[in-house]
This record gives sequence, C-alpha cells and structure tokens, in this order.
Amino acid sequence: MNNILKDVLKLKRRVLVVDDEEINRRMLEKILSSEFEVITAEDGNRALEIIRREAGRLSLVLLDLIMPGRDGYEVLEEMRDDSVLRKLPVIVLTSEASAEVKSLKMGAADFIPKPYDLPDVIIARIEKTIQLYESINIVNATQLDMLTGLYNKEYFLEYALVMDQFYPSRKMDAVAVNINRFHILNELYGRAFGDELLQKIGAVIKSFALEHDGIGCRYDADGFFLYVPHEDDLIGRLAVEFGRDGTLEKRDILNRIRYGIYPDVDRKFDLHRRFDCALLACNSIKGDFQKRSAVYDSSMHEREAYTERLIADMETALKEGQFKVYYQPKFYIRDEEPYLSSAEALVRWFHPEFGMIRPSDFIPIFEGNGMIRQLDHYVWKEAARQTGEWKRKYGFATPVSVNVSRIDLQKPGFIDEVTDMLHEEGITPEEYLLEVTESAYTEDSEGIIAVVNSLRSRGFRIEMDDFGTGYSSLNMLSSLPIDVLKLDMGFVKRIHENEKDLKMVELIMDIADYLDLTVVAEGVENEEQYKLLKAVGVHVIQGYYFSRPVPGDEMEGFLRRRIEYDNSRKA
Ligand code: C2E
Ligand code: CA
Ligand code: CA
Repeated sequence: MNNILKDVLKLKRRVLVVDDEEINRRMLEKILSSEFEVITAEDGNRALEIIRREAGRLSLVLLDLIMPGRDGYEVLEEMRDDSVLRKLPVIVLTSEASAEVKSLKMGAADFIPKPYDLPDVIIARIEKTIQLYESINIVNATQLDMLTGLYNKEYFLEYALVMDQFYPSRKMDAVAVNINRFHILNELYGRAFGDELLQKIGAVIKSFALEHDGIGCRYDADGFFLYVPHEDDLIGRLAVEFGRDGTLEKRDILNRIRYGIYPDVDRKFDLHRRFDCALLACNSIKGDFQKRSAVYDSSMHEREAYTERLIADMETALKEGQFKVYYQPKFYIRDEEPYLSSAEALVRWFHPEFGMIRPSDFIPIFEGNGMIRQLDHYVWKEAARQTGEWKRKYGFATPVSVNVSRIDLQKPGFIDEVTDMLHEEGITPEEYLLEVTESAYTEDSEGIIAVVNSLRSRGFRIEMDDFGTGYSSLNMLSSLPIDVLKLDMGFVKRIHENEKDLKMVELIMDIADYLDLTVVAEGVENEEQYKLLKAVGVHVIQGYYFSRPVPGDEMEGFLRRRIEYDNSRKA
C-alpha cells in the first residue's frame, strides 16, 4: 500500500520482532504495540519465511543477532542478497558493542542496545528509520543504473536530501570521480571492455560508500558521485581502494581516474550546487597528466566564467586580428656550430581587456568545443603567408611548423585545405611541417594514421609532438607514419640532474637512428642541457636557451644570421 495512503488512513506500520527468548519478544511487543502492529518470530528461519511472505506489508524488522540455528547475521546476509528484501530496514538488537559495527556494515539500518530500558527512545528510533526508508523507497527500483547497480543521479540526490534531513549537523563531503578520456578506451578496446571497467569502478564506489556510511551513484557515462560524512584525506583513501583492484592498473586505468572533492559542504547551497562544485574541481584537471585530484575552491567559479568569456570573445578576436603568430627558432646542432633550421609557429592572443593570453589558457578550451578548427585555419594561413614572404625576401625558405590538433585531422577536406593554402602562398609541403601530438595517434590511431599517410604521400613531413607523454610504445613507433620525433619537454627538464632521463633519451636516439627519424628536443633552457643533448646525438634543438617565441619581425634577425652563417661557410 502506498505510504501516503497509510498516513491518511492512520494505519499502524507493521513491525516484525525476531528474538529466540520469549521474554524479550513479549517485552518489545508491549513497548511497541501502542504505535505499531507487531508480529513475532522465534528464530531466523521463521523470520525469513515471514519476511518473504509479508515483504510488501512489513515496515521494519527488529532482529536479535544471537539465536540458535540461523542467527541474525545470516538473516541479514540473506536479505542483503535479495533486491527486494534489501529495501526493508532492519534494526538489530544486541548487547555487545562490537556487533554493532559489523551488523551496520552488513546493511542494518540501526541498532538498539539490550536491555530495553528506554521505551520512548526505542519507539523514536524505529519511527525515524521507517520514515527514512519510506522516503527513499518512494523512488522505485527502476532508479538503479543497470550497468553498475548504483543509484542514478536523481535518486541519489533525493536520497542525499533525506540523509541531510536525518543528520542535520553532520559534516559531509561531495565527491566527483571521472575517467579521463573514457571514450577513447571504448574506441581502443571495445565497448565490452568499457562496460567492464565501469562495473569495476562502480563496485569500488559502492563498497566505499557503504563502509563510509555514505551513498554513491553514476551520474553520467563515465562519472560517479559520492556523498559521505566528512573525513580528512577522503580522496587518498578512495584512491587506495581503487589501487586494491589489481586489474585497474592495467592499461593505465588508475592513472586516468580523476577526483574532485568539495569537502565539508556548505549546507546553504542546495545539493545540485554542491555536486556542481565537486564536478568543477574534477573538470579542472581534465586532460592533466600530472594531477589526479582537485579540491573545490571558489576561484574555480571565476575560472569557469573566464572560460565562458574566452569562448564568447573568440570570433570577434579572429575578425579583429587579436591573434598573432609568434615564431620560435629551431637549431640544427649536429655540425660544429648550431644554425637555424626551421621555426615553430605558436599563437598568442592579445585580448583588449586581459592582455596577452598564453595558448595553454585557450587552446584546450577550443579543442574541447571544436573552435580550434577556425583558429588553426587562421594560424596556418598566417604562417604560410609569412613563410612565403620570407622565401621571396631572402631567397630561401625556412620551414615553419604548425600545430595540428586531432580534431583538425578529422575534419573532412583538411588535406585540400592545407594544400590550397600553401599553393596560394607559393610554398611547397617540404617547406611546411605539421606537428601532431603523440596522444592524437594513440587516441584515434586508425583515423589519424590514414590521414597522415595521405599527407605524407603529398610531400608533407610530420613531426610527432610531445613524444613520451602519450601511450605509444617504442616498438609501435616503427609502424607510425612520422618523419620527426619531438621529445617532450619533460625529458629535457631534468636530463642534467637525472640519470634515468638521460638514459631514456639515449634509448630513444638509438631507435630513432634505426628508424631514420630526426629528433628534436624542445624546452632546452640552459647550456648543460644543450651539451648533453648534443652529446647523445639529438639533431635539432628548440628552447629558451636559443630564443623564446618571437614576433615575425624579430624572427627575421635569425634569418639574416642564417644567411651570414651560410656565406661564412662558403668563403
Ligand atoms: P607545444 O607545441 O609543445 O609548444 C611548445 C611550448 O613550449 C610553447 O608554449 C613554447 O613557448 C614553450 N617553450 C619553448 N621553449 C621553452 C623553454 O625553453 N622552456 C619552457 N618552459 N617552455 C618553452 P606555448 O606557446 O605557450 O604553447 C603551448 C601549447 O599550445 C603548444 O605546446 C601547443 O600544443 C599549443 N599551441 C600553440 N599554438 C597553437 C596553435 O596555433 N594551434 C594549436 N592547435 N595548438 C597550439
Ligand atoms: Ca608543437
Ligand atoms: Ca611539444
């Protein structure tokens, strides 16, 4: 019967008392009968029989733990494994403190200590529990997520609200858990793998929630929420739980899990807002390879507003020419003296209000919403124009490389777009390099490889950017269509301090030699790094040691020096 109807009809809730001692059954019956309709059972078997038969009509079970035959724990276990019986609240009757925790973990809603000397307290506890469970059960079982068996988001938020009402002063943490670029795992290893992964993660979330007296849900394809009583370093503990599942270590899954937490939530905010905050923290480290977790702070809302603003301003900025292309020279270092061999085009945004904005602030945003295509088209065109102008002015072309995002490569007509551009500016594909990040290859390998192959057949050369940050293995390199390997800055950073990094670079050099690839090292900032890289045979160097990225007119200084260098060699 519907609970509202019960209230209207002032029906008494039906409570089952399970205890092997008659005196106890009698006593509870006496205490409770003014408020409830009481039925009794004298052992575990009889109790389960009644519970099964009366499932829809029972409101609560009072369960003695220690009984001959089937004891209270076994009854709890049996109920927990049954999707219908699980929803019936159980309060355990016990005289041992140690039994309380165990039974709560097994799914009991509460406990009442023996002996029963405070009837009012007992009645209040039972009423509270019934009320809690009835509010929760308003939402029916279809609210469970089929794949993980966790609650869905709506149900979860409703449940959280009820929890708040019952524990008005308890400190709570809101947590968001997300898998970084989950869709790629789906693409790489198939849907079945993805589903299995979500189930595993769901299972960890579920048991963690249970053990920490909280609740969890799956809020979208690859995202989970937790609402649990506040603890110091909750995320640390949660990460440990994920680490325990050995299978998650494979395929680097553990490193892809991102945590956002809004600790000790402010109850002035509604629940949606609290989880928005946790999510905001979680999203702030999306795509970040170093950070695994983030704690919400109010500046994140400012950050979000800034992001919105950049998106809103982008098209005007393109029209008004606020984007400028800078060039960072690259030097060939395998001869006695280093000389300019090419340059990388790097975009800068001169915003009328914010001043110069670095690409790391807007490129990821535009990659996320597709606007990168427009921006890159502009940058490539400008870089091509500049290269053509220099070629005519100085009588030789210094190849310029441009950055190409994964979604650029997936755009239909991309190859014609670039080819036409070069044609218009009077330069050849050999004079124009394309930098594609390593992660693009690992994330959509087949699609990217196909496009890159046809680019190369038209004479383009491809640099694999940020090599070492993606997931391609060294032996995969031989099958990838690339001409140049661009070591990620991370290798260069500590090469003069860390033996292991140097060894790694040496190993990459060996393989590159074998595959006949040119190796570029970027982020070279000091002489020590430069000398070591030269010693191991790196071909080309880019970094502050030689020059920061500079505007086109400053770049011309490097072009003129190259001419002087060539002339001195001829002489
Ligand atoms: P990237 O392609 O790896 O570019 C190298 C970045 O390292 C540049 O940052 C450059 O200024 C910086 N850098 C160069 N030498 C040094 C050094 O010695 N030390 C340090 N610490 N940094 C150095 P920037 O210009 O801020 O660009 C950041 C990233 O934004 C680029 O990383 C690239 O992925 C992306 N990007 C830049 N311009 C474009 C563009 O026009 N289109 C696309 N799709 N992405 C772009
Ligand atoms: Ca680059
Ligand atoms: Ca790079």
